Amino acid sequence: MNKIKFISKKKPLIIAGPCSAESKEQLFTTAKAISQHVDLFRVGIWKPRTSPDSFQGLGNKALKWVQELKNQIEIPIATEVANAGHVESCLKSEVDVIWLGARTTVNPFYVQEIAEALRGVDIPVLIKNPIHPELSLWIGAIERLRKVGINNLAAIHRGFFTLEKSAFRNEPKWEIPIKLKKECPDLPLLCDPSHISGNTDMIQEVSQTALDLDMDGLMIETHFKPSVALSDPNQQITPIQLLKLKKSLVLRKTTALNKDFNNKLYELRKLIDQIDEKLVKIIGNRVSLVKEIGAYKKKNKVTILQIKRWFEIFNTRQKMGVNYNVDPQYVAEIFELIHKHSILTQTELMKKSND
Ligand code: PEP
Ligand code: MN
Repeated sequence: MNKIKFISKKKPLIIAGPCSAESKEQLFTTAKAISQHVDLFRVGIWKPRTSPDSFQGLGNKALKWVQELKNQIEIPIATEVANAGHVESCLKSEVDVIWLGARTTVNPFYVQEIAEALRGVDIPVLIKNPIHPELSLWIGAIERLRKVGINNLAAIHRGFFTLEKSAFRNEPKWEIPIKLKKECPDLPLLCDPSHISGNTDMIQEVSQTALDLDMDGLMIETHFKPSVALSDPNQQITPIQLLKLKKSLVLRKTTALNKDFNNKLYELRKLIDQIDEKLVKIIGNRVSLVKEIGAYKKKNKVTILQIKRWFEIFNTRQKMGVNYNVDPQYVAEIFELIHKHSILTQTELMKKSND
């Protein structure tokens, strides 16, 4: 079997398989139902569960089944490792691809331990984002693996834990994988819509968004009978649903050769450029006023922050958003940023006055 090469692989790379290996029957039935339709089979053997009373995965027992399964399907098999012992067992059992889960990427000690166990080994590795949205930690994990010679690497965006009310199990915060793409433009970037959604209803939509953001592939939890799954039963889809999902996905090109399209796009972007210039100019005018007000507060020994005024700005600007057909949440975020910089500008000014 050829080693999977994340970089040269035709897009989108499809990874699917159960959250965990639960029984030989479950593993083999699921694998055989999907192996002709996907590029890589995933299965969890050691499961990082929140509660010690939850199903923890079957460990070495399941690894033996994986070894057996390798002779029966024609695609490579991937599993999650969380320590050097897992890596050793996987290498002994000739697991084809390994991945680091969100709870491992979050801890540089674990990542380093895994990296050391992989030094000099030629195996493809996938790195999920850390649980919380800290891009540098994600990049740090990627670098730790690169430094021990693992070059066949890809990142997986699986969303981020949040305390805020959310329709998602893990907030996608698409801006974070986009920043990763900016920092590591050559690193293939996949999406795990199952752990982002947390239920089967949103998987199609999240998958399509990932492809529309030019991601390189999808990891989708698939189980021959999700309702009896021992982990993540709500987000696993059946092999039939997986095929339907694959068919439903629209693959778009990153550029179009069509001349009319490009001309029209060029014209529209010119308009955007003009608006952006006006926006920055207006922000500049606002900054001048903020400085003038800061100097006036300083002269009159008045505090920078007057919370009532900030509430007033925050509320009235959101209403303006409604009037001008701009999402008030979007307006709120813009003004939080503007206000943060106004406070910083006036704080600097006050400091100067103390010189
Ligand atoms: C998994 O893929 O089953 C898993 C545990 O994922 P994550 O690390 O994204 O929570
Ligand atoms: Mn899972």
